[in-house]
Amino acid sequence: MSGQALRLQDVRLAYHGSTGGHLALDGVSLALDAGRIGCLLGPSGCGKTTVLRAIAGFEPVRSGSIRLGDQLLSSAATHLPPEQRRVGMMFQEYALFPHLDAAHNVAFGLRRLPAPARRARVAELLALVGLPDHGGRFAHELSGGQQQRVALARALAPSPQLLLLDEPFSNLDPATRERLTVQVRDILRAAGQTAVLVTHNEAEAHAIADHVGVMHNGRLTHWHQSAHA
Ligand code: ADP
Repeated sequence: MSGQALRLQDVRLAYHGSTGGHLALDGVSLALDAGRIGCLLGPSGCGKTTVLRAIAGFEPVRSGSIRLGDQLLSSAATHLPPEQRRVGMMFQEYALFPHLDAAHNVAFGLRRLPAPARRARVAELLALVGLPDHGGRFAHELSGGQQQRVALARALAPSPQLLLLDEPFSNLDPATRERLTVQVRDILRAAGQTAVLVTHNEAEAHAIADHVGVMHNGRLTHWHQSAHA
């Protein structure tokens, strides 16, 4: 894959009801090539999650634009609803459905596929995340790291054009966290998946990302290539 996948240009966003016209995003611009991993780094409250919410379509932008491939997702005049954006998400909580086993969790976003194709895709994804024999397990039968890998498989299954990850490792113990960071990076690379990750952990940002940007007070500075990229 090549070419620019994601482009934010001068995005401004204010939450409804925020006082004094306070901007949660104050002119955020970034570009990410297809197949690359970008990371937003910064302290709590600086606007990282808001960037993801704007990209996913949960918040309209006041000005500027968000494009995915050649499609305009958001601008002052345009707001494509979340379900029409090919954007997948993975969050910090173990978001697996407890009443479904791992295979059915992964199959969740694949309901429109015929059953044989769905089964094949689920097997492919469970293998990709290193859990080929865990399809019959429920969340309580999986470790925290395994649950997050199933959650990743579920997010990847519908082949989103862009995957958003919000602090996906923060509920894990440090050793699991470090191991999973590397595993997730390798899985995303193997899938050629374009992704934007949010974290406040600098080592994690540099371990996983091709591009890292630092956020402060609704602004993004230093959107630069990571040292390893
Ligand atoms: P981060 O992800 O970096 O911790 P957020 O994007 O969650 O930061 O928040 C950025 C700013 O927007 C903060 O000042 C926060 O208080 C504010 N904010 C977040 N969500 C809302 C909301 N739903 N309504 C009003 N203000 C919000």
